[in-house]
Amino acid sequence: MAQYQTLLYYCYSPIENAEKFAEDHLEFCKSLGLLGRIIVADEGLNGTVSGTPESCAAYMEHIHSDPRFSKTEFKIDDVEEVSFIKMHCRYKEEIVHSGLRNPAEINPNKQTGIHLEPKDFLAMKDQEDVVVLDVRSNYEHNVGRFKNAITLDIENFREFPEKVKELEHLKGKKILTYCTGGIKCEKASALLLKEGFEDVYQLHGGIIKYGKEAGGEDFEGECYVFDNRVTVPVNSVNPSVVSTCKNCGKITSKMINCANPVCNEHFTQCDECGWELEGCCSSACQTHPRKREYDGTGYYVKVPQPVNEEKISKRKHKKLVKN
Ligand SMILES: [Zn+2]
Ligand SMILES: [Zn+2]
Repeated sequence: MAQYQTLLYYCYSPIENAEKFAEDHLEFCKSLGLLGRIIVADEGLNGTVSGTPESCAAYMEHIHSDPRFSKTEFKIDDVEEVSFIKMHCRYKEEIVHSGLRNPAEINPNKQTGIHLEPKDFLAMKDQEDVVVLDVRSNYEHNVGRFKNAITLDIENFREFPEKVKELEHLKGKKILTYCTGGIKCEKASALLLKEGFEDVYQLHGGIIKYGKEAGGEDFEGECYVFDNRVTVPVNSVNPSVVSTCKNCGKITSKMINCANPVCNEHFTQCDECGWELEGCCSSACQTHPRKREYDGTGYYVKVPQPVNEEKISKRKHKKLVKN
């Protein structure tokens, strides 16, 4: 059995008193010793949590025992170390930020694209009248995407509704949307239907489930994930790397945050350049007085601003504990 597991899941199901639910749920997760990030909204749950196989099993059982979430699908990864440093469970207006806040307007429980299981997606994606649409952001599709997929120049999913206007020419084709775990597609495909696209499908369970059930075939590069693994390989059939080091151009799938906390740019950098530039995107950032210590991962715990000396020393201490 793996030492730890990481669970990825979402569930669109109305929650009453969602703010209170979030508080209680945080305590529950802590009682199980889980680490991760969960978003609770009136429309449902979205989370990634990490812990021992026992605590993950207890968590899944707890979620499934609640009639509101009984159909939740968990994507389970075995991991060598816990994928998070803290446990967060927060109330937000949406479980995935689309900026479409009116539930009457976009409600995946009422109308959304037809769910395609990975094998069906694989069988359909190269057909002539089909367009594969990546609904994720630049930093995600830059490091990996389906061969021949249409990608959008967006920094955040909330720009998606605006971008739909540029897809008018695809009307009449079958549109297959995909994202990391399926959650964005629920809203993206719902919006496409609302905007008059007729044949809209979505990859159920996203790239992660596709990797497990269809070998990740034709997914080029790696899949960006929202924990300290940053990217995960999904293609065991015909893998390739599509991203290059920002500094030297060498092929790499490694994504980091610039060690200068003020810059914090999220970019691809090879190991060699990483050590040379101490995890910075440029030599200018390398001279920044608050540059964080590069440990080869380029992953940093978010520290609230402003940072004073006391906090810096505490953070250093925390980092030592973590390592
Ligand atoms: Zn490089
Ligand atoms: Zn930088």
